[in-house]
Amino acid sequence: MIKGEYDYLKALAEINECAEHGKPLTVATHPSEALWVLRCGEGEYPDTIRHIPSLTEEYKQGTLPSGPIADNIIKGSKRRAVAM
Ligand SMILES: [Zn+2]
Repeated sequence: MIKGEYDYLKALAEINECAEHGKPLTVATHPSEALWVLRCGEGEYPDTIRHIPSLTEEYKQGTLPSGPIADNIIKGSKRRAVAM
């Protein structure tokens, strides 16, 4: 169970998901204590959460490393012999 300040948990919930179920997280009140806790979409209180990759991060992870492929440039210029 992940406890903390409301603002802290709210920020966590926006960028993380339940590591066990892959469900979105919400900030909830502790069932028996005067605390804020993270609750997942399964209605459970996860001990582990994982970061949800942003579109920018997915793009970065998908980019190809720079390599010699870009150097493969075909030179199409040919001089054409013209018969006189
Ligand atoms: Zn869960």
